[in-house]
Amino acid sequence: TGINFDGNDIENLPPELVKKGRNKVLEYWHSLSHGESFPVNEFKLILVGDGGSGKTSLLKRITTGEFDINEKQTHGINIQSWRLKRDEKEVSANLWDFGGQEIMHSTHQFFLSNRSLYIVVIDSRREEKVEYWLKHIEALGGNSPTIIVINKIDENAGFDVNRKFLLKKYPNIFAITKVSCSTGEGLEALISAIKGALDNVSHLNTLWPKSWFLLKQRLETINENFISITKFHELCKEFEIYSTASQSTLLDFFHDLGVMLRFKDFGLNDTSVLNPHWVTEGVYRIINSKKLAEHLGILKYELLESILPKEIYPRPQHNFLVSLMEKFELCYKITTDAMLIPDLL
Ligand code: GDP
Ligand code: MG
Repeated sequence: TGINFDGNDIENLPPELVKKGRNKVLEYWHSLSHGESFPVNEFKLILVGDGGSGKTSLLKRITTGEFDINEKQTHGINIQSWRLKRDEKEVSANLWDFGGQEIMHSTHQFFLSNRSLYIVVIDSRREEKVEYWLKHIEALGGNSPTIIVINKIDENAGFDVNRKFLLKKYPNIFAITKVSCSTGEGLEALISAIKGALDNVSHLNTLWPKSWFLLKQRLETINENFISITKFHELCKEFEIYSTASQSTLLDFFHDLGVMLRFKDFGLNDTSVLNPHWVTEGVYRIINSKKLAEHLGILKYELLESILPKEIYPRPQHNFLVSLMEKFELCYKITTDAMLIPDLL
């Protein structure tokens, strides 16, 4: 049941499909060879913006209709699911909301994926660096559509951003809307904008064979912080997903849906993260460690053993964390056995 793309296979495919690229071919092939297939119907909605702008309030308003004037500061990552109606069908969204401290901004970059929908929340009572967020999305979010939400208009209705300038400079901006999480004003328009933007979240209508959904469900029930790539391949085989092309397509998909965090870059290949908190906590532990302060920002790799609890962060995963920090410029390798961690606080 594996898929091979040698010359013969390609010749037997509709040419218009081949032109669309490998993923389209794969999808087609699967729907043929497995009979049953279904649209993905799920996406990741990522809320970004400065601390205090109202990300958590917006998430609550959208998912429960509630508002709390004393909303507590978010720590780490808050993930909620939300179902919305789109053309008579239900679509599920995984909403990702991040805590606001500066140090956290840097680790949140790990989770800015392609094929997602972004909402940049800004506080109309403050002049905010909306471009800071737009640049991050541009760098890490691929062609994902973005909605700018100007919040707290109950307190400053007149505030606006330089729409013309932003729309020209960032073509991924799908809409700019004004809301108040407090009064609920503008929320309906925002939800319509979200639905509209979904047309640009390309994978929603992609067809998956049933086995892919079953594998996804299986991954979601695994109670581990991470799995190795070998284990992932074994799981694929359990669900009769044999070809390396499908396995690698799935890894990308799972990454973008937020099911699993996985970086293809060198050195990061062996670990796929199932629990996002595991990564951020590991990085915080390193950055906030006493040892690091004592050594003026220079940390020998061997010290990681005393910083990271072994049961949670086994030795082979140290390299994963360090490579990830390097990739996102949270640290720099300075010698073969030590790294420099700039002051992020
Ligand atoms: P976050 O850090 O981006 O998650 O922001 P929060 O959702 O925690 O909101 C920060 C503060 O602003 C909280 O006290 C909220 O109650 C308040 N807040 C959020 N949205 C609004 C709004 O539309 N109007 C007003 N007046 N306050 C709001
Ligand atoms: Mg919050």
